Amino acid sequence: MVRENEIRENEVAMELPEPRDAGLVFIGRIATPWTSRLETPRQGRHDGPVCRIEIFAPWIPALQGVEAFERLEVLYWLDRSRRDLLLQSPARNGRTHGTFSLRSPVRPNPIGTSIVRLEAVEDAVLLVRGLDCLDGTPLLDLKPDRTLFTPIAPPQPGDFQTG
Ligand code: SAM
Repeated sequence: MVRENEIRENEVAMELPEPRDAGLVFIGRIATPWTSRLETPRQGRHDGPVCRIEIFAPWIPALQGVEAFERLEVLYWLDRSRRDLLLQSPARNGRTHGTFSLRSPVRPNPIGTSIVRLEAVEDAVLLVRGLDCLDGTPLLDLKPDRTLFTPIAPPQPGDFQTG
């Protein structure tokens, strides 16, 4: 069963610190078929349903070139998640795991990431497969899949540094 807002056996929560604004801006919104966390995939799949990533007006020119990439990395804000758990029990069996050893949506800064398959670009909308978020989830960022991307800027000394 997916978490609503409950604390499960042996889970540990903390008092959240005062929020400090990191200056994030939501650059769009993600439309998916899922309105309940009980039905949303735990992780997206590349043969899953097509979802729409809608980019807000000021950011539309920043889409230039994305169509060249078969896959994109999408970062989104899991806005309906609690944020205060240190130890979590995903299987609800009393066995706990540290938040940073999980990909749970419950985390201090609820950022989700997925590698999606780009199906089409239609003006300010990307059609993609591979998402696992609720309908209306705010969009934080888009980047090419790192395995498809070669830096365009010239290399720097650190690029050759090993050991
Ligand atoms: N693929 C991302 C990752 O690994 O960072 C997210 C994985 S997370 C396990 C996916 C789950 O987050 C979904 O099954 C759903 O229960 C939950 N979720 C999806 N959208 C959410 C939202 N907007 N707010 C809170 N929880 C959400």
